[in-house]
Amino acid sequence: MLARWRDWLAGRGRTQAPQVADDWPAAFARVPVLAHWSAGDRERLQQLALDFLAAKALEPAADATVDRIQALAIALQAALPVLNLGLDWYRGWHSVVLYPDEFRSRFEEVDEAGVVHQVDDWRSGESWAAGPLILSLADVAAGGQGAGHNVVVHECAHKLDQVDGDTNGHPPLHPGMDPAAWTAAFSDAYRHLGRRALRRLRTVLDPYAAQSPAEFFAVASELFFDDPLSLRDGYLAVYEQLALFYQQDPAAHWTAQPVGPR
Ligand SMILES: [Zn+2]
Repeated sequence: MLARWRDWLAGRGRTQAPQVADDWPAAFARVPVLAHWSAGDRERLQQLALDFLAAKALEPAADATVDRIQALAIALQAALPVLNLGLDWYRGWHSVVLYPDEFRSRFEEVDEAGVVHQVDDWRSGESWAAGPLILSLADVAAGGQGAGHNVVVHECAHKLDQVDGDTNGHPPLHPGMDPAAWTAAFSDAYRHLGRRALRRLRTVLDPYAAQSPAEFFAVASELFFDDPLSLRDGYLAVYEQLALFYQQDPAAHWTAQPVGPR
């Protein structure tokens, strides 16, 4: 099931299937935060990353060049949120468009009065409902370093949020999860963050999370995987809900296994 992955490489003048086994250490080195996960988890991440590359086409745009190590590093980060959920959570979309750097995006936004505005903005990533996931390679390279940022996880979180058709910060919850507990945790934290962002006070989450509940979920997911102790300290209830949703407890890796970049 490596057909697309091979096609992608073939399109760049290579004739053989990639010898990916040799490339894993370099790919993991691009995402130092992954050193916190156990050897067994990292092995499962590798397999999931290959499945991801077989299922999704990577499409360089605007003269972007993507090497094999970069492709594997992106796939590892995309695999991280679904490590215990499975790739089926990424159903309904087929490509990852890669720009060299931030890209211009034009879209419509409806304000509180119901007026539609044309917005023209620079983006590091974007996730279209039932469409591609779009990433800036410069921002991808800056993520996964343990500083709380990861644009791949951010955009993949939007994809998970969109599984039920709405991008509203409320992905479909698993059986046994309490929707009221989810809503209470996220709405309390969202209000708290919004108040602090408005007063320009220091915030645990990037203030961009105050834009909307959907952005809050995506930014909180970044911190959950990239600096989980900060999220757990700052918004414990949100951390607990994300642990139930992602079926992972990354903060435990940090405390049990003091390796990696921090
Ligand atoms: Zn976003």
